[in-house]
Amino acid sequence: KNLGVNEIRELFLQFFESKDHLRLKSFSVVPRNDKSLLLINSGMAPMKAYFTGQETPPSKRVTTCQKCIRTGDIDNVGKTARHGTFFEMLGDFSFGDYFKNEIIPWSWEFVTKWLEIPEDKLYVTIYEEDDETGEIWHEKVGLPWDRIKKLGKEDNFWQHGTGPCGPCTEIYYDRGPEYGCNSPTCGVGCDCDRYMEFWNLVLTQFDAHEDGTYTELDHKNVDTGMGLERMATIMQGVDSIFDVDTVKYIRDAVCQKAGVEYGKEHKIDVSVRIITDHIRSVTIMTADGVLPSNEGRGYVLRRLLRRAARHGKLLGIQGEFLAELSKAVITCSGEAYPELVDKQDYIFKILSIEENSFYKTIDKGMEILKEDMEEMKAAGETVMSGEKSFRLYDTYGFPVDLTKEILEEAGMRVDEEAFAKEMQAQKDRARKARGGEGYMGAAVTVYDELPTDLETKFAGYDVDTVADAK
Ligand code: ATP
Ligand code: MG
Ligand code: MG
Ligand code: MG
Repeated sequence: KNLGVNEIRELFLQFFESKDHLRLKSFSVVPRNDKSLLLINSGMAPMKAYFTGQETPPSKRVTTCQKCIRTGDIDNVGKTARHGTFFEMLGDFSFGDYFKNEIIPWSWEFVTKWLEIPEDKLYVTIYEEDDETGEIWHEKVGLPWDRIKKLGKEDNFWQHGTGPCGPCTEIYYDRGPEYGCNSPTCGVGCDCDRYMEFWNLVLTQFDAHEDGTYTELDHKNVDTGMGLERMATIMQGVDSIFDVDTVKYIRDAVCQKAGVEYGKEHKIDVSVRIITDHIRSVTIMTADGVLPSNEGRGYVLRRLLRRAARHGKLLGIQGEFLAELSKAVITCSGEAYPELVDKQDYIFKILSIEENSFYKTIDKGMEILKEDMEEMKAAGETVMSGEKSFRLYDTYGFPVDLTKEILEEAGMRVDEEAFAKEMQAQKDRARKARGGEGYMGAAVTVYDELPTDLETKFAGYDVDTVADAK
């Protein structure tokens, strides 16, 4: 069945509505009352308070399509077929209501009956000690044992410290040997792109105690997560999440802007995919009120935006281009996420300001970095000193991640410890000199010359004002 991203999303939500779930709209990517998390990275994350019982859910059965940001996957983007820093996670949630006996057959029903995926392409994994789940897959669903693979705790047991935790069971699709890595041990769970994990069913069954023991929870929960772009990759029979209809629409816009053709040269494709992914993340985050800054989630936004900008330059795009590309994101996802349409002018403004402020400083920084690298080469060094990398950051406003990335491309690296030391020393000096908190690093003065007519003030964008106020 060839289904579009927007159709799959709707089918999933309808399926769970038919099982008495309440459909909620996606939560913001900015967590609410949760200091443990910078950005929402799963469908379950914004519902933690429902699972712990701190808040009462509007229904014991909920289904959502959640906007997710996973910065941890940034280095996979463009390299694997299946990772983005932004993606949409479809999920269904049981707050002390249904459990294994329901969700396992339901998930199979959705995948094989509603999506009509051939059963002989599917595999599942279970936690090695969770015989119950194995039995359900085998007895109730009728899956042969050779399609049920047992994995250990690190893969199939969900736990964060003490408290509610439990086994997972995941569903995989075999895309065929042409996507395999040719390793003799390649199989379900291999990191290559052949067996693609697309649905994680988390069965929160236990309470983990300080002493390492577990007891059964009175109210067991279910939370599942299915990657929408991954499912679309399967349904559309394409190579990667960058080839599915909505994402391809953005990818085409990137190629058109850069005047390049996709699928001709690996290096170009990687840059195209990075821009395509990052513009999605950046657009979504900005719509949810994140502003570029040098800290926390603002820094995530800044880093993604600048990385996209830099890859644009690598492709030869002249001048500003990100706000224009964000239009493609809004076109594709505006219906599912109306806040994108509501805030589009605001999004364009923020992206445009940040992109231009980056270009102002990058040129000078680039020159210095090139000189530094030549010096290093001449001296036969591959590790850049903390002094050099910090000077780039501090005096020229050059983000250290960018320095790292450029060095890595040349087989060099930053001495991160030394960089961190310089940074700390700078902070200490600044605190002493100004006699107070609220100082955010000298780099802010260099590359945050932002106009003041924004709706929300950038935290600490104008260091001199902060200092003067003291
Ligand atoms: P992988 O092992 O492929 O990195 P994961 O085990 O980290 O995936 P989960 O945390 O189980 O992923 O998330 C549930 C589902 O969300 C996955 O099965 C997948 O379909 C989707 N997903 C996870 N990370 C990404 C990503 N970076 N981009 C797109 N989809 C993702
Ligand atoms: Mg992962
Ligand atoms: Mg996994
Ligand atoms: Mg997983």
